[in-house]
Amino acid sequence: MRVLITGAAGFLGSNLVDRFLRDGHQVVGLDNFVTGSPDNIAHLTGNPNFEFVRHNISNFTYVAGPLDGVLHFASPASPIDYLEHPIPTLKVGALGTHNALGIAKAKSARFFLASTSEVYGDPLVHPQPEGYWGNVNPIGPRGVYDEAKRFAEAMTMAYHRFHGLDTRIVRIFNTYGPRMRPHDGRVVSNFIVQAIKGEPLTLYGDGQQTRSFTFVDDEVEGIYQLFLRGDAMPMNIGNPNEFTVRELAEVVLELTGSKSPIVQRPLPEDDPKVRKPDITRARTVLGWEPTVQLREGVSRTIAYFRGVVGRTA
Ligand code: UDP
Repeated sequence: MRVLITGAAGFLGSNLVDRFLRDGHQVVGLDNFVTGSPDNIAHLTGNPNFEFVRHNISNFTYVAGPLDGVLHFASPASPIDYLEHPIPTLKVGALGTHNALGIAKAKSARFFLASTSEVYGDPLVHPQPEGYWGNVNPIGPRGVYDEAKRFAEAMTMAYHRFHGLDTRIVRIFNTYGPRMRPHDGRVVSNFIVQAIKGEPLTLYGDGQQTRSFTFVDDEVEGIYQLFLRGDAMPMNIGNPNEFTVRELAEVVLELTGSKSPIVQRPLPEDDPKVRKPDITRARTVLGWEPTVQLREGVSRTIAYFRGVVGRTA
């Protein structure tokens, strides 16, 4: 296969590029480096199966040659990033998705949308099955991301129903692991970098809010299997083991052996109180489930950050 991956220099995008290349496929990677980094694809320089194009998918995009798949992973995805880039975030979810769908249609390629658990907002149903419609504040600070992704899902389903395009939608839950940026702003990277540097761990609110953390290799494998073998309806891909953010802080302190204190900071506006995927559909349709649990995944991520924080923090 020959596939186009937007956001190819991002945390998830670059790991997905590697997954396709591992099976001998050809990948065209697109990224404008708004939050992605050349470092994430530096190891692919000279690889004959990988082409890179520096471009913003929210603008008109022409890709030469045949394509079997278009995977749209371009978007700021960390709350601090979409607060800093609110309009590009809305544009890449809306205009970028439209352009990526147009490419898929022109090439008769399968389209794959990277959506998010944020479509469930601050959920009133727990855990969240795909049939839950969500509880999103459209005009809050997170609305630029949540609503862009909800629009992207609607657009994808419209191309599926109206044009008969072969499509997939994954709802990605909090994912962590190597290649996250030290200053990504997400809780796992923040806590690990703070612990390694002996700085206080910044717990937002009382830390009783929950998340279900997925190790990147599990997330990418679920995405890859959904692309190959899934269907058009949205699918949650995430680890259903739920932790409070305070529990995560304690695990990070224990596994780093750090003496850092935990300090409380204000809870960001509209911060979801709970999050946990119902993965019945992924288990049934794909036979997929996560294999790396929190302690192992955090240990591997600590090893990664120990190698990079000295250089880039
Ligand atoms: N959080 C925290 N300290 C940090 C960063 C995040 O306590 O330094 C909390 C945040 O308020 C949220 C959870 O950790 O409740 C996950 O935040 P993250 O930004 O990783 O992703 P989200 O799931 O909110 O998109």
